[in-house]
Amino acid sequence: MQSNPLSSPADSARSALAERPTAKVLIIGAGINGIATFRDLALQGVDVTIIDRGDYVSGASAASSHMIHGGIRYLENGEFRLVKESVTERNGLLKIAPHYVKPLKTTVPMFSAFSGVLAAPLRFLTHKQGKAQERGALLIKVGLVLYDSFSRDGGSVPKHEFHGRKKSLERLPRLNPGLKYTATYYDASMHDPERLALDVLRDGLDTGAHARAANYVEAVGMDADGVRLRNTVTGEEFSFAADVVVNTSGPWTDLTNAALGAASTYMGGTKGSHIVLDHPELLAATGGGEIFFENSDGRIVLIYPLAGRVLIGTTDLEHDMSQPIRTTEDEIDYFFDLVKHVFPDITVDRSHIVFRFAGVRPLPRHDDEAPGFVSRDYRIESSPLGARPGTLLSLVGGKWTTFRALAEHLSGDILTLLGVPRTVSTEGLAIGGGKDFPATPAAHTVWLAAHGDEVGRARAQALLTRYGTRAGTIIDFLTEAPDAPLAHNPLYTRREIEYLAREESVTHLIDLLLRRTSLAFVGGLSVALLEELAGVLAPVLGWDAAQSAAEVTAAAQELAEVHGVDLLGASEAVSAP
Ligand SMILES: Cc1cc2nc3c(=O)[nH]c(=O)nc-3n(C[C@H](O)[C@H](O)[C@H](O)COP(=O)(O)OP(=O)(O)OC[C@H]3O[C@@H](n4cnc5c(N)ncnc54)[C@H](O)[C@@H]3O)c2cc1C
Repeated sequence: MQSNPLSSPADSARSALAERPTAKVLIIGAGINGIATFRDLALQGVDVTIIDRGDYVSGASAASSHMIHGGIRYLENGEFRLVKESVTERNGLLKIAPHYVKPLKTTVPMFSAFSGVLAAPLRFLTHKQGKAQERGALLIKVGLVLYDSFSRDGGSVPKHEFHGRKKSLERLPRLNPGLKYTATYYDASMHDPERLALDVLRDGLDTGAHARAANYVEAVGMDADGVRLRNTVTGEEFSFAADVVVNTSGPWTDLTNAALGAASTYMGGTKGSHIVLDHPELLAATGGGEIFFENSDGRIVLIYPLAGRVLIGTTDLEHDMSQPIRTTEDEIDYFFDLVKHVFPDITVDRSHIVFRFAGVRPLPRHDDEAPGFVSRDYRIESSPLGARPGTLLSLVGGKWTTFRALAEHLSGDILTLLGVPRTVSTEGLAIGGGKDFPATPAAHTVWLAAHGDEVGRARAQALLTRYGTRAGTIIDFLTEAPDAPLAHNPLYTRREIEYLAREESVTHLIDLLLRRTSLAFVGGLSVALLEELAGVLAPVLGWDAAQSAAEVTAAAQELAEVHGVDLLGASEAVSAP
């Protein structure tokens, strides 16, 4: 789809790369790991550019289970380093990104005292799959004691508790009465990973003109002048020279290396799917926390409340990256079976699904190891650039949870290659709208009092939840000109959408629906809403009537094909999440 290259802010960012096609560091792939590395380098004053062939955060980073977690199950694989780093980072993110990362109470129902105990050491010793069994109470107890010991951090999250059947059912009465115990511990979740990643990106861009970013720019090859980049909106190609090229293209890392003429076989990602349900009864049954348990096939599955909906995931299936990444009907049946196992008297069917999403985990190649037991740790591979002097670094692996530490590690390697000293640490450095986020009820009240005059307290609260303290800047923008709620979703206003289009590199309507807002995630979309949004975007992005209509069609098609959202059958009613 073509757009007027002069009128869109995102198009200007793309054109600027062609006008000055050089940087010290070029990062290919703007998922959370590329973006966090970009921020880290930008803070050191390094001349750095990041690109993505699609929208920002549209790969694996948009498909996570939204958990910022230590990964208690990785203890079973003997991945103590990873678990310790993950727990430390979880505690850190609760402090530096409090607007998006919140403590998550997690309950594990158990149906036996001992199963899993024998399988665990087998897996730990051989790194092969032991017989899939439900994890028994004893194993979980040992894991949680260890987990608590990693979590000692002045009480970022409370310690775990163990309960017998009676107490468990008092706390969560809709749980399967056949359970024997429950364990409850705390991890964290992020209600809007896409927005968190955009905040990390914004932090990098705000450091100055040495830090540049463009979406819809693909690395397609390599020649003597640099990496061949293609603007996927206009089709224009140019060579971009950099001393260090960083491949953070997640599950596509081998494909990107092949395009650069540096073939690799590092990756072996597995697909995972999720569904989002609008189901008040199930939402209430979770008691506001996560239910996390092992299905009889050995997969860990989760059910938890998010943005007023219930998120259910996930699967772990081998995937061929040349094939589309979709949630299948079989996976949905599997999710329904496990809800029945945990909450036997709650009925769930396809009419409750408002959104589905799937992604491929950027895991290392794992040969005969079963998907669920492949290491979730990451490594960095280095090789010569090939067609010109320089270094190619490829990231293999990397969870959402550890993005800050991973970026510090990766940018540390890059700084060494460039001979540049580190001047700023990202440890403890607030991210985006997490800066000065009101941490206490009193501070919260003060913030709302300071910003509620202009837009009303309820709206100020909604914006604080959505954007953290960046809401202050957004409120200023909203009040500079007349504003009005969207006719087809009054939870957003026209100027809010205009702000996102101007400031956040929106290129297509789908970017706004999936990654600048939660509009698609919570359900309630309609063709009328898409048309209204396209009407707000058009003057900012330079769309004429034909292009606006084409954007609505393209967005509706992607929603149907990828996310199972059939707009023709959808109701226009939107319940407040
Ligand atoms: C089902 C599932 C559940 C998960 N749950 C969790 C969880 O709860 N907690 C957790 O911590 N982690 C979780 N993860 C893992 C986590 O989401 C990923 O490991 C992480 O997001 C990877 O980020 P990334 O930046 O490395 O890769 P990605 O987000 O995939 O980013 C790579 C980017 O590279 C771009 N790209 C590819 N090729 C090119 C090219 N040639 N030119 C330009 N750009 C290119 C892509 O468009 C993409 O945006 C989960 C993952 C999945 C799939």
